[in-house]
Amino acid sequence: MLPLDSPRWLALETSHGTLAHLGEAVRTVLARGFDGREWPALYELVIHQGTIYPAAYAVLPHVIAHAATREPATLASFWTDIGFVLGAPDKRPVAAVPADLVAGFEAALPVALPLALRAFDAARDGRPAIYRGAPILRASQASYLALACVALARHHVGQLMWAFLDPPELSEELVNAMCPECDVELTWLHRGAGIVEESHADDPVPQPALVLPLVPKLAGKPGPWATLAAALDLETRFGPIARAVALAGVPADAPDRTVICLVSALVATHGELDWATRLARLASSMRCPACSAVSLFVDCLPELDV
Ligand SMILES: [Zn+2]
Repeated sequence: MLPLDSPRWLALETSHGTLAHLGEAVRTVLARGFDGREWPALYELVIHQGTIYPAAYAVLPHVIAHAATREPATLASFWTDIGFVLGAPDKRPVAAVPADLVAGFEAALPVALPLALRAFDAARDGRPAIYRGAPILRASQASYLALACVALARHHVGQLMWAFLDPPELSEELVNAMCPECDVELTWLHRGAGIVEESHADDPVPQPALVLPLVPKLAGKPGPWATLAAALDLETRFGPIARAVALAGVPADAPDRTVICLVSALVATHGELDWATRLARLASSMRCPACSAVSLFVDCLPELDV
């Protein structure tokens, strides 16, 4: 972890260029916690519009270590932010990654996952869902936290953090999609029957039946997912798939569709079964309203790098 008084902070690029007070900004967040204005301000310095800045590699180990000292139930908003960083579809050249800080950054992440999972668990306790001090829907909190945990597990389905419109207020629209056959841009709405519609189109297109993947056979141990895996024994079609993924520790090679089932099942454990069922639609197929081609939804999500 980069010492807070190191001169290295002065050379680390942020979204506002290099800053004389970057180390001090970290120190202030560690002193005041994540509920004030200081943390969102620091967050904006390390990531802006999906681009991760070199400062992130120095800042995240500090804030993650600090999160380990706080009550998990108070950290839903914080872990959502960290999920946005880990799930960022960062398209910048590798040269922008500060090589001297990568080892410390990577070492912080295994610590982060169990903490984020505990925050997810604690967020079930019925207290109001809050993001950065403002109320949000419980369904929104559950899905962003679940995706943040997946991002912290380093599975690329965590990139779906960025697929939802207006994050993280969770409006009634939902994800941006693009037909892989004709490249038409689509907006998926989660009103009605979870249909896909072209933006502003008048006539909804009938969608294929929900067909989920088979329960995967995955090697691996549950690790920090063990406690949650037990809760995924739900009477839903995606529950057994989710459980198999969690019991294998969400390995990087778990098929995207099965990890979407995991996110859906996690959301269902927060009592948001209707929204969970709509999310599970992302593990199935859609029919393009423009060319009528039927494609797997995971092939239609531009945020999901393959
Ligand atoms: Zn099409």
